[in-house]
Amino acid sequence: MLNQEEKMARNYNCDGSKCISSNGEVRVYPTGGGSNLILCYNCWANENRYRFNKGREYKRPEDWPQVDWVKARVYNTGDGDD
Ligand SMILES: [Zn+2]
Repeated sequence: MLNQEEKMARNYNCDGSKCISSNGEVRVYPTGGGSNLILCYNCWANENRYRFNKGREYKRPEDWPQVDWVKARVYNTGDGDD
């Protein structure tokens, strides 16, 4: 399915795979236990949807908390303090 892959944008700052833009803003998605995902907006929405579905599937939505994009910290992708 090479053609399908060509159509997909890849944001190299993003940990997800649902990117629609290669240079969109990415933010820090805390996943618990001190670890994070760095996700673009579309992957963020996808992660929240995934968690929503998991919470419903297991009937334990409190175990699958979703994170609000607008409240999240913007991940600095600039070449700063590296
Ligand atoms: Zn993404």
